[in-house]
Amino acid sequence: MRSKVTKAFTLVEMLVVIACIGILVVLILPASAKTKSSSLKFACLNNCKQMGFGQQMFAADHAAGKSVYLGPLGSLTGTFLSTSTNGNGTTSQQADDDLNWLHGIQGNSNAYVTTLQTFVCPATINNVRGNVTTTTVYNNTVFKTLLDLTSKAVDKYHTTGHSYEVFGFWRTYNLPYFPRKTLTSVQHHTNSSTANLKIRGTISGPSDIFTIVDELEVHTPYRENAPNPYAAHGLEGANVVCADAHCEFIATKNWYDRYSMSEDDSSSQGKPYP
Ligand SMILES: [Zn+2]
Repeated sequence: MRSKVTKAFTLVEMLVVIACIGILVVLILPASAKTKSSSLKFACLNNCKQMGFGQQMFAADHAAGKSVYLGPLGSLTGTFLSTSTNGNGTTSQQADDDLNWLHGIQGNSNAYVTTLQTFVCPATINNVRGNVTTTTVYNNTVFKTLLDLTSKAVDKYHTTGHSYEVFGFWRTYNLPYFPRKTLTSVQHHTNSSTANLKIRGTISGPSDIFTIVDELEVHTPYRENAPNPYAAHGLEGANVVCADAHCEFIATKNWYDRYSMSEDDSSSQGKPYP
């Protein structure tokens, strides 16, 4: 009499298969997370490139006196709302993170970056809404601006606004006001830092100078703009647009040196977390 042969898996075989699947999942998951993080950085870099091109067109138009925006001729970045007061008591165009100058506003044909999502880093949950507008009067003309582009969503828990920061001014502390970055000044600006002798006396040049930064700024003591756990790309680093319109991802380990060189600033504001 022949013995009965079973065709089903034994319990041991099943356990071995389940263990193998488990090991594969553990191996694959971190790799897929890393791929996702790289693709978000790349998509963000693409946003930066759009803004970089827009910035060059804005500067050319502004230099030719075609723009309605205030500020010295040849400004690399603009701003629309003007509510700030300088240290010397005069009002100035320092609505820091208003990006309407890039997006364009109703009543003004200068629209350099028309897609709203370009102003949102894909690694944040910030968003901008195309239906939230406000009006601003300049030279007796009423302009309709996009409200969400006048403010920056401060972190992942604020879901309206944009997620990029304008670096349109020299962060130089010994002046009565922050002078604007212009086509001329980015060619000739000499770093005057007394805190960082490494950069003192150097001319950084357009490729070293940030104009738009993919960062959030409000989390003391990690401000200003240093890669930190609250920012879009966390502790990895951040994308920047430079004055010559090139864009790059700057890793956290290089951030402070690059920030100091760009902003002529060696204060703790550029120091990365922790
Ligand atoms: Zn980003």
